This record gives sequence, C-alpha cells and structure tokens, in this order.
Amino acid sequence: MKDSAPRVICIGAGPAGLTAARQLSRAGASVIVLERDPVYVGGISRTEHYKGFRFDVGGHRFFSKSREIEGLWEEILGDQLIRRERKSRILYRGKLFDYPLRAFDALKKLGLPESTLCMLSYLKARLFPIRDPQTFEEWVTNQFGHRLYSIFFKTYTEKVWGMRCQEISADWAAQRIKGLSLGTAVWKATIPGWLRKAGSTPKTLIEFFKYPRLGPGQMWEAASEQIQESGGEVLLGMNVEGLARDPETGTWTVTAEDTDGKSHQYSADHVISSAAIIDLAECLQPAPPEAVLTAARALRYRDFLTVALIVRDVDCFDDNWIYIHDSSVRVGRIQNFKSWSPHMVPDPELNCLGLEYFCFKGDGLWTSEDEDLIRLADEELIHLGLVTPGHVVDGKVIRQAGAYPVYDENYEERVALFHTWLKKNMPGLHLVGRNGMHKYNNQDHAMMTALLTAENILAGEELWDVWKVNQDADYHEVGEDRTLAFSERKVPAAFEKNES
Ligand SMILES: Cc1cc2nc3c(=O)[nH]c(=O)nc-3n(C[C@H](O)[C@H](O)[C@H](O)COP(=O)(O)OP(=O)(O)OC[C@H]3O[C@@H](n4cnc5c(N)ncnc54)[C@H](O)[C@@H]3O)c2cc1C
Repeated sequence: MKDSAPRVICIGAGPAGLTAARQLSRAGASVIVLERDPVYVGGISRTEHYKGFRFDVGGHRFFSKSREIEGLWEEILGDQLIRRERKSRILYRGKLFDYPLRAFDALKKLGLPESTLCMLSYLKARLFPIRDPQTFEEWVTNQFGHRLYSIFFKTYTEKVWGMRCQEISADWAAQRIKGLSLGTAVWKATIPGWLRKAGSTPKTLIEFFKYPRLGPGQMWEAASEQIQESGGEVLLGMNVEGLARDPETGTWTVTAEDTDGKSHQYSADHVISSAAIIDLAECLQPAPPEAVLTAARALRYRDFLTVALIVRDVDCFDDNWIYIHDSSVRVGRIQNFKSWSPHMVPDPELNCLGLEYFCFKGDGLWTSEDEDLIRLADEELIHLGLVTPGHVVDGKVIRQAGAYPVYDENYEERVALFHTWLKKNMPGLHLVGRNGMHKYNNQDHAMMTALLTAENILAGEELWDVWKVNQDADYHEVGEDRTLAFSERKVPAAFEKNES
C-alpha cells in the first residue's frame, strides 16, 4: 500500500462497485460509492420489493468456479446463503422439456418422426460441421444439428437479443453453452454421476446453486452495510455526470447530481467505474477524441422488463424458471420466485411469477403503461396454459435499462479503442464489471474484476490485468507455473496475472 491511504470513488453500487469498495475500505482506503438508484443497491443483481413480495431482475444464481468468490459470498452473508436445487424447463408446443436438454426426454416428447429428423440433422452436423463458425446459428448448429437449434434455441435467443441468430456472434454461444453438445447431453442423461469425470460438467448443467434467503439484493445490502462499518460511504440517488482529471496533480473531480437536481463534487486519487461505457464516455472532461467517443456511443445494449404477477395458483409449476419457446407470445422467460426461496413470498396462499420481456428502451413494450403490461402478462400466462383465468391478484413492473451488453460484429474493436485510449490518457480511472467493461459477465466475474482492481490500487501498481478475467474458469487453459502462482493466493487459474 502507498504511504497515504488512497481516496477512491466507485461509480455504481452493483456487485462490482460494492466489491471494490468493500475490499478497499477494509484495507483502510477512503471510499465513497455513488449510486444513481435512489432506493436499491445491487444494480442488476438487486432485489426489489412490493407489499412484502421480493423479486429479482431475472433470477440470480450464485454459482462460481472461483473458490475465492464463493468464499466472499459466504463471508458477506454467512448462514443467510441457502442451497437450492436448480429446476428449469423449456415450454415448447404445450410441453415442458427438461433444460439443460436431456436427450431422451427431448426425443420422447418430440415424438418419433420429429426425433428421427433431429437425429439425422445432428449426424449431418457432426459429419459435415460448419468450418470456423462465426454466428450463433452456425455454432449451435454444429453442437446440436440445425433442427434442434431451430426448436430449442432460435426463438428464445431472438427474443432475448432482438436480433436474428445469424447476426449474433459465435462468441456468445461459445461462452454461454460451451462444452454442451448433444453428445454431452446424452452422456449426462445416461451415465450415473459417479461415473462421470469430476469437474467435467459444463456450467449450464449445474444442478445446485446458492441463493440468498431474501434474494440477491440481500447480499448487496449486507455488503453496503459492511462498507459503512469500515468507514466507507454508500450514497444513493447520486447520478455521476462529470469526471475531470487534473493533469498536474492527477486528482479526479467527480460530479454527481442528487435526486433534487443538486450538484455535488468529490475529489479522489482513483475512480472505479461500473457505469456503462456509453455513459462514462459522456462524463469525461475534456471529452475524448471524436473517434473514441463515436466507438463508445456505438456500443449497444439490450433492455429488459419483468412483470411480477402475484397469483393465487401456487402450484402452477415448481421450476425456478421456464423458457418460453413460443412465438405466439412476447414473454421470453418466466421466473417462479417462490421456488428460488420461499422467503420471497410473504403469504403461503400466494405466489409471485416474474414474466420477462426483452426489449429496447423506447420500443413499444418499454413505453407501455404498467397496467397494460400487467394485463398482457396475465393474458399470456393464461394463453400458455400455466394458470387459469382470474388468478392474478396484483402486479408490479420493473424496468432494467442496459441489462445485456450486446456482442455485435464490431463491439470488440470499439471496446478496445475506448479502453486503450483511457489507459493511456486517464490514469487512475479503472473500468470494472459487466457494462463497465462491456462483458456479458455474471456477478462472480464482475466481482473478480473489482477485487483485482482494488489490489492494483492498494499496491500502487498494475499487478493484475483485469481484462484477462475471462468468462469461465474452466474455459481457459493455463500452464502449470501460473496455476501454482494463483493457488498460492487462492485466485483461480483463469484469473490471469498480468505478464508485463
Ligand atoms: C436477466 C438477468 C439475469 C441474470 N442472472 C444472473 C445469475 O443467475 N447469476 C449471476 O451471477 N449473474 C446474473 N446476471 C448478471 C448480473 O446481474 C451482473 O453480472 C451483475 O449485476 C454485474 O454487476 P456490475 O456491478 O458490474 O453491474 P450492475 O449490476 O449493472 O451495477 C452497476 C451499477 O452502477 C450504477 N450506475 C450506472 N451508471 C451510473 C452513474 N452514471 N452514476 C451512478 N451510478 C451509476 C447502476 O445504477 C448500477 O446500480 C443476470 C443478469 C440479467 C440481466
């Protein structure tokens, strides 16, 4: 650590901002977290509440291949972290298929003629795979065959991204469903667990996960309290609008507007930003060169809304969530919050279902009145046969802008241009987290980028290159020596150390 404790501003009280702030404040740094949400901490991983019901922005599993992150969750929340069994299925043509797909279940429910066509299509994909797959469609077709891709991946994926599968980069599929093919699914479906090689299960097949008793927001509410106990501050309702660095002293001035429109200024040696790159770029004073600004402004995000319906049919289904592969409805996925944790619902006679709609800010869904969205969700639940008419007691709409950073054709170059310029011209400004780095990350990776950034700041040098924190520990191959270095400091092998 440097001679004097660093002064650090964290933009955003999501998992990344709070993890960095917690680590730094416990090490004696002077930390202020500025969060624009006036009520909640947790960012996309917050838990909203309404009349005693609690619901996530999409269900949030706590699962990581990093022991360090798993340990951190335990440390923050202790016995409030419960173990849950995962159950999720796909609703297709009125039938519920196991998800992750189990070959025999899928083929049985599809019927003999369709199953035969699927198997032939799979064989064709294995014998004549598409060389160097570039798109989501090509990548999944190689893994499952074109027919199964059309049935189980196309509709849902296109709803999520609002793009055709031919336009989505193969990277996305490779990160999210890597290691999973029809062959793996058959293996998983037929071979008893004790015969399978330990650690060979890909991430999407994980059957158990941890979950805070009162939803993910409970984790981040606890982290926020712990930061304040260590002397840090977490200020809500503070929208960061300006970031200026004095070139002489290297001191940062951060300007934030509170909910009454009043402007506040803070000084810091370091700024850690988990704000979306597109927003951060507009805050910088002086503004970056035009090419850098244009690259940041061209980054795209998919937005999202959940209609949480309080329903009387408590037994409609017991999955954590169901994927809706049906193009006759607009809902993409349905969460059952009681299955995540019974403590999310205050009344045993009632349940709370979250109907998830993927949209773009400003489109017809996003701008619909809440009461219209609640009516739409009610009608779609009935149409899908999941509940009977007259079951909805109440509803609440949650909108989440920038839920998904979009991996389109040029996103990598755009992010690299912004990041390279920032690194050279804005020392002391660190990018972390999901939208902060434009990475389609889960909480664990967002947290790891924050932890390593905190360590860099405390050391006063760049010990770690946080851009090397990859999406999943198992997906990254490392040599013997590095593995050893990481195990010494209990950082998993995938979180690579800067080689420079
Ligand atoms: C539908 C859905 C389901 C998911 N499921 C899972 C799951 O099962 N498991 C899992 O681990 N992860 C899951 N995730 C991912 C998880 O939500 C994110 O990885 C995590 O929240 C990222 O943390 P973050 O701190 O980087 O960003 P965020 O959560 O986005 O937090 C950033 C914070 O910064 C604030 N902010 C932004 N700009 C400013 C500004 N200018 N001034 C002040 N504050 C600002 C925002 O308000 C926000 O609170 C899911 C995500 C989605 C969308």
